[in-house]
Amino acid sequence: MLSVETAIKKLRSIVPQVKEYETVPLREGVGRTLKRSITAPQHSPPFDNSAMDGYALCGPNRIEPGTRFEVVGESRAGHPYGEQLDEGHACRIFTGAVVPTGTTTVVCQEDVLNGEGNVMVNRECVGMENIRKKGMDATKGMTIASNRDVLSPYSIGWCSAFGLTDIEVVRRIKVAVFSTGDELRDPGQQLQPGQIYESNRTALIALLQSKPVELVDLGQLSDNPDEIKQSLLSIAGEVDLIITSGGVSVGESDFVRPVLEEIGKLEFFSLALKPGKPLAVGTIENALFFGLPGNPVSTIVTYLLFVAPTVDSMSGIPWHRPTHFTAKLTTKISHKSGRREYQRGVFVEDNRELSVATTGDQSSNRLGSFKDCNCLIVVPAHRDDLEDGEMVDILLLPNQRSVY
Ligand code: AMP
Ligand code: MG
Repeated sequence: MLSVETAIKKLRSIVPQVKEYETVPLREGVGRTLKRSITAPQHSPPFDNSAMDGYALCGPNRIEPGTRFEVVGESRAGHPYGEQLDEGHACRIFTGAVVPTGTTTVVCQEDVLNGEGNVMVNRECVGMENIRKKGMDATKGMTIASNRDVLSPYSIGWCSAFGLTDIEVVRRIKVAVFSTGDELRDPGQQLQPGQIYESNRTALIALLQSKPVELVDLGQLSDNPDEIKQSLLSIAGEVDLIITSGGVSVGESDFVRPVLEEIGKLEFFSLALKPGKPLAVGTIENALFFGLPGNPVSTIVTYLLFVAPTVDSMSGIPWHRPTHFTAKLTTKISHKSGRREYQRGVFVEDNRELSVATTGDQSSNRLGSFKDCNCLIVVPAHRDDLEDGEMVDILLLPNQRSVY
């Protein structure tokens, strides 16, 4: 049995990075990896503008309280005052409006008394207050997003502030997903005795939806080695990644691994991992292949640990550990040393301390263990039982309800 670390090391050595690119509308760029750095095509903001609703003043560098200014015009956002401001003059101004040339400072409307055609400042003002200078966010030519950055909603908003409409990104990773098993039916079909509804393919497709992938849902394969072989061979030349679930153990109906060995290359199999011991990873032609274990919890856990970072890595995102924290265990965990275990857990924050409990029966067929689950609790391979009160590592689950 391979340790999780060794398996990840082996996997990383065979994961290729996609070097083909496409141009997409900026608004569709979230989660995509940039082909090259983006530099600011102009200053942002493109002109000096007011940070407040108030008055642009033209006066000495230090203006005493009680000084009056004649109001000669108005500058609204999108409607500049086109004239030069002269000594002793003020211009009504609003947030985001162009600061007229000649302005020496902007005073907030709360800091003036309005008179007939004039304003009197009622506190001392110094030069260039309340003015957002041209280029204060970024100057023309500055790097606003770097080569291989993954675009976030924030960086996309920023790119939009420079008027960008399209971006060049790594093309989507093509992923084919199969489930295997004679007992499986899709929801909507009638179940016959001994049959169950399939859930792995559905969960995998839902998980992959947050990744930059082009998905091919290839449905179910029966436990028939010829059918599995033909199906895998017919798709291998078309995609970057093939994922199957089930049929990968050592039972008499488990044909996925022998087929992989026949038509491709098996890199590793059998991990010191719970759930997810029978995981077959290899290649078929140029496609990476993941034969995930069939038990639904094992499918999801091995997806999170191995497939998700692989998809990221193929898209150019550096391999990274999932976001993790330390939390105090509030339930005992029964465990026998030998395999690293990832139990489903629910953590809460209480008085700045994280505490975590398991979500009940942790059998690998129990999708119910994901109910209310917001993290995976890591049980080290070398440990036996973990006691209530111990500090443990927890990995955040992706797609959790946002805190905002
Ligand atoms: P296997 O690895 O094929 O022996 O499957 C292990 C267990 O997972 C069996 O109980 C299967 O019925 C179940 N299983 C396999 N694939 C799926 C699937 N796509 N959806 C739900 N359960 C599955
Ligand atoms: Mg099966």
